[in-house]
Amino acid sequence: MMNRAPERVLIVGGGPIGLATGIALRARGLSVRVIDPRTPPIDKACGEGIMPDGVGWLGRFGVDLTTIGGARFRGIRYLDGDDVAEARFPEGHGLGMRRTTLHRALVERAADTGVQLDWGVRAVGFTGSEVETSAGCASADWIVAADGLGSRMRRWAGLEGARASRQRRTGVRRHFRIAPWTDLVEVYWSDDCEAYVTPVGAEETGVAVLSSGSALGFEAGLARFPALERRLLSAPVASTDRGAGPLWRKSLRVQTGKLALVGDAAGYLDAITGEGLALGFHEADALADAIAAGDLRLYERAFRKLVALPFALIRLLLFAERHPSVRRRVVRTLARDPEIFARLLAIHTRDRPPRSLGVGGTLRFVRGIVRA
Ligand SMILES: Cc1cc2nc3c(=O)[nH]c(=O)nc-3n(C[C@H](O)[C@H](O)[C@H](O)COP(=O)(O)OP(=O)(O)OC[C@H]3O[C@@H](n4cnc5c(N)ncnc54)[C@H](O)[C@@H]3O)c2cc1C
Repeated sequence: MMNRAPERVLIVGGGPIGLATGIALRARGLSVRVIDPRTPPIDKACGEGIMPDGVGWLGRFGVDLTTIGGARFRGIRYLDGDDVAEARFPEGHGLGMRRTTLHRALVERAADTGVQLDWGVRAVGFTGSEVETSAGCASADWIVAADGLGSRMRRWAGLEGARASRQRRTGVRRHFRIAPWTDLVEVYWSDDCEAYVTPVGAEETGVAVLSSGSALGFEAGLARFPALERRLLSAPVASTDRGAGPLWRKSLRVQTGKLALVGDAAGYLDAITGEGLALGFHEADALADAIAAGDLRLYERAFRKLVALPFALIRLLLFAERHPSVRRRVVRTLARDPEIFARLLAIHTRDRPPRSLGVGGTLRFVRGIVRA
């Protein structure tokens, strides 16, 4: 009897989620080719904090966590004026690392598992069944679009969803040669702007500034947080600034025919919860399952479930961000009631189900906000 050749998958985009999808598909015995116009290690504007469940995924994908580097973090600290709220993860740790470090590790792992990596090749069109690339036409049994926030594949496939939110949000990040002063990711809040501070190495700290409305440059954004600005004043700058935005990109659906969208290409609302990579890794695994089963509708269903809570949380935080008095009350409540903050963080990292907050916890949180 003749053996059937393994099904072939073409992945457009060799960022972290395209590579993770490739690794997950190889684990299921499929043949995988990744194309990307850039060459590794690929950098990108990112807060660079991988949440604990994302770190778990890296381990499951076979990335060697003992040698990967970066810096561990144990929770989140919110700073808003005089209010400081902090919560630690119930289990495990997050990992802060330069995007180039993460990318290098995933490229190495993908190559080890037998993913064919074609750098310097760009997708320039999609016919519905084939991808036109800068190196000729490419066909496959399945096509995965992992080409990021501004995904052209999503547009060519007619899956582009609602574009901008009411508020235009953009981000810019910079690294400083300064040892992390805490094992928490810090989020500094002000009106229309936040700064996300992530330890990324023994001697290096990343700062991402996110702003609403007209894009603030890094300096203008940082100036909103004098204490942070003072701390970084004498620290040498260790990278070139990178920007991203506008954020908030949605897809109508995440599959059509033999094409599926994954990672930011499938939809990305905002960096306000410090998530993206962990969620993308969950999606990569769900997509690999669906392709192996030969039914992308399974992925559509899994995707809706996966994003329901993170997208709801982003919407809630963006509401608070748009209403400074609400935001201040929320942070004050979390500062006064660290147990509630810890419970909310455990739900965010998927260590506990949403119902674990309970009616009592929800009432306590809402009452706190009203009285703050
Ligand atoms: C300011 C900011 C801060 C963030 N902070 C965090 C954080 O702290 N933690 C976190 O988990 N997430 C964070 N995120 C989100 C995170 O960066 C993304 O979710 C993640 O990068 C998504 O990975 P991806 O592989 O889907 O897309 P990308 O990383 O964007 O990769 C897409 C790839 O597709 C390639 N590509 C593009 N066009 C084509 C084409 N035509 N043909 C072939 N290839 C193409 C690109 O070259 C790129 O390599 C942040 C995002 C922003 C903007």
